[in-house]
Amino acid sequence: MKKERVVIIGSGPAGLTAALYTARAQLAPVVIAGAQLGGQVAITHEIENYPGFPDGLSGPELVERMKSHAENFGAKVEFDLVESVDFSRGSPFYIKTLGEEYLADSVIVTIGADPRKLGVPGETEYVGAGVSYCGTCDGFFFRGKDIVVVGGGDSALEEGIFLTRFATSVNIIHRRDELRAGVQLQQRAFNNDKISFTWNSVVEEIIGCENGGGVSAVRLKNRVTGEETIAPTEGVFIFIGHDPNNAVFGDQIALNENGYIITDQRYRTNVDGVFAAGEIQDEIWRQVATSVGQGTSAAMAAIQWLEAREETLQELDAAPAAG
Ligand code: NAP
Repeated sequence: MKKERVVIIGSGPAGLTAALYTARAQLAPVVIAGAQLGGQVAITHEIENYPGFPDGLSGPELVERMKSHAENFGAKVEFDLVESVDFSRGSPFYIKTLGEEYLADSVIVTIGADPRKLGVPGETEYVGAGVSYCGTCDGFFFRGKDIVVVGGGDSALEEGIFLTRFATSVNIIHRRDELRAGVQLQQRAFNNDKISFTWNSVVEEIIGCENGGGVSAVRLKNRVTGEETIAPTEGVFIFIGHDPNNAVFGDQIALNENGYIITDQRYRTNVDGVFAAGEIQDEIWRQVATSVGQGTSAAMAAIQWLEAREETLQELDAAPAAG
């Protein structure tokens, strides 16, 4: 069992920034990186809106820079997965990973969120062979092809517009007749000749080629008329929101109705000594820059919390014994 001052669960921008700040505070944080170092950023082709990089940079490069920056100040990044936690007895908190057990004085949860799945036949089978959740990662493979995008929010439109760089046509399938996305993005999509819309429709099945070569069509159902149609396509990009990675916490941290960890302005969860930052507690902004800011704040709050706790423990030690 390893005893640590700070354990950070997750290695996206929030986690690696929290690692940098707690490392600079001499707390030698341990980052449990999860299945993918850097989280979703690691699969982002290019980041053009992170301040200080006017020419943009790739997601993997930014992650590598953040990791080595934190490590330079003493953070340890472990390529491991959290299996379970026990926060019920307060600090120190028990964390079990695939390869280790930890007792941590404080914990910063930055475990992120994953793209939501449609849950229809064919979806899992064709991931990587026509089904994708990342335009920037996979768009290049759909040069000169006709593809569909599922969803009606900012992500669906932003990624759909991006995908027109590669695809011949992009058909956006939305379950209502009104988009959730912001007006500016809507205008850009409506003005794009390569983009068309299929309204009031849901994907019921993703159909593969008979020869096994990938996706050939989607089966759609119109929610108003009930009519079913087969729409030929070679690619299905799904952008229907995200699901927060809250599974390992069970009912040990308070979550909101959508499953995101509830924090206060100091990024404190309802468990004293456990903090959360990034997409596991932010379902709105979801930007690298906002996650970096949240990771900074959570780290500073954790540092203050540890200092206050140590002062209290020292005062208790110094107090004359009762009686
Ligand atoms: P979102 O805003 O939650 O939109 C999800 C979309 O998918 C909605 O249109 C929803 O339909 C649809 N949907 C959900 N479940 C579905 C299902 N099972 N089947 C079919 N359709 C389904 O998610 P998001 O677009 O990923 O955006 C998340 C947050 O990030 C938002 O706050 C957004 O503003 C922000 N964001 C901002 C930018 C930007 O500013 N450039 C870019 C990307 C994301 P309904 O509309 O019917 O609910």
